[in-house]
Amino acid sequence: MKSYEMFINGTWTSGSDRQRFDTLNPYTQTAWASIPQASIEDVRGAIAAARGAFDSVWRRMPGLKRAALMTRLAEIIEREAQPLAVIESTDNGKVIRETSAQMIYAARVFRYFAGLADKLRGSTIPLDNPDILDFTLREPYGVVALITAWNSPIALLANKLPAALAAGNCVVIKPSEHASASTLEFCRYVEEAGFPPGVINVVTGDAKVGAAMTELEGVDKISFTGSPGVGRRVATAAAQRLIPVTLELGGKSPNIIFGDADLPRAIVGALAGIFAATGQTCIAGSRLLVQRSVYDTVVTQLVERANKIVLGNPLDAATEMGTAANRPQFERIIAAIDEAKAQGANLKAGGGGATDPTLKNGLFIKPTIFSDVHPDMSVAQSEIFGPVLSVIPFESEEEAIAIANGTKLGLAAGVWTQDISRAMRMIRAMDSGVVWVNTYRMVSAQAPFGGRKGSGYGKERGDEGLLEFSVLKNVMVDFSGEDRDPFAAKT
Ligand code: NAD
Repeated sequence: MKSYEMFINGTWTSGSDRQRFDTLNPYTQTAWASIPQASIEDVRGAIAAARGAFDSVWRRMPGLKRAALMTRLAEIIEREAQPLAVIESTDNGKVIRETSAQMIYAARVFRYFAGLADKLRGSTIPLDNPDILDFTLREPYGVVALITAWNSPIALLANKLPAALAAGNCVVIKPSEHASASTLEFCRYVEEAGFPPGVINVVTGDAKVGAAMTELEGVDKISFTGSPGVGRRVATAAAQRLIPVTLELGGKSPNIIFGDADLPRAIVGALAGIFAATGQTCIAGSRLLVQRSVYDTVVTQLVERANKIVLGNPLDAATEMGTAANRPQFERIIAAIDEAKAQGANLKAGGGGATDPTLKNGLFIKPTIFSDVHPDMSVAQSEIFGPVLSVIPFESEEEAIAIANGTKLGLAAGVWTQDISRAMRMIRAMDSGVVWVNTYRMVSAQAPFGGRKGSGYGKERGDEGLLEFSVLKNVMVDFSGEDRDPFAAKT
């Protein structure tokens, strides 16, 4: 068993209560590491450490120096990508080919925001009075709470932390209690890179720890990635304290194949959209809308491909799909599959846990496809966060738009067509934060990302991701020399 400590004010600690919990490997269902459970005092200590670092060093450190630290951190992440990927795959069952790529991606995002750390600037604004100079400054908030989910701890952290640091903030991070190890391991690189103590702090534990981060005094901004239900609680807590919050929540994203699409590519896009990451990704293309003219062909080919996906040890490079990340998630996915069956969706592939004896210890779910799903069924409305695809037929573009926009969520959408005019109409019609045309699940450090409707608000990555962690100050300088006494007697 590995034993981890929290990272607060540059030191490793078990926390004031010295309480711990085990983290399970979902492939073996055995405990593999022990993680501290933070107390409220520990959270308070981490916030105070971040505040101290902000006031004493970080807010005054030139962007160029902050960038150098971030670039150094990116180099270490690249060097350690493989061992870090092994830790994450062991903790959440995501296949190593995906976690390895995510570590390289994380380093890339650090490099991108390192490049922006000395470029956060305001503007000058001409006023009616030419003898008053008006300009704006972009300033950091101060102490920012970063709360992440279990599906991709380091990649999710990379969507927040580099931007927060580049904008000049200090942070307190809380990873999910289901997958904390890689974030704690990451703190070793923070230490090696030479960040001043208190700039980056990590507390671990359950929902109480997350809630404390949203309720305690001293946090100036929250950035949250998780479920819509918890997101609502985080937004409520932020409203009580009148602090801003960025919410990256769930999705039920439509992937739409028109009859004129390049079908082989579209089918690969549909398959990868839902079965990559075992469907445990916010941007999963969990609703596949297919035009009637190609519906039967698409369903047949998808089912063939899905049945060939290789399940196995997430650490084996040959494995194509890993496990559900934890027992509660496994049970939620199975319940959603059973509900879809009960509601009359047509099961075409999978339909439950894996039955192969070599997989019996792991939390495996077979790649599952339901066809002839009605858009109102819960399998087509609720986020499952697992390898479960609902295939929904449509006749016309208008019908596709209505179905695509007909959920409470609005994270992403995919459109497969070779008709450029249709693609442009669909881009405009989608109520989502991201639209992919003839691709799916593509992300980049430079491209802003974030949802609409029940999928949250605010942006991560890209230039907008940096602005999310900074606050605008307006400045007026009067150099007219005029006396502006409002009480002076009028002559
Ligand atoms: P979750 O909402 O259960 O937990 C997320 C984090 O919030 C965890 O660290 C948890 O401990 C913490 N938390 C729990 N209660 C809290 C509270 N009251 N106050 C503050 N923090 C609290 O989500 P999860 O099950 O870990 O992750 C799955 C969800 O995350 C899915 O809905 C998925 O779509 C979403 N997600 C979204 C994105 C995105 O970028 N939009 C990315 C990945 C995952």
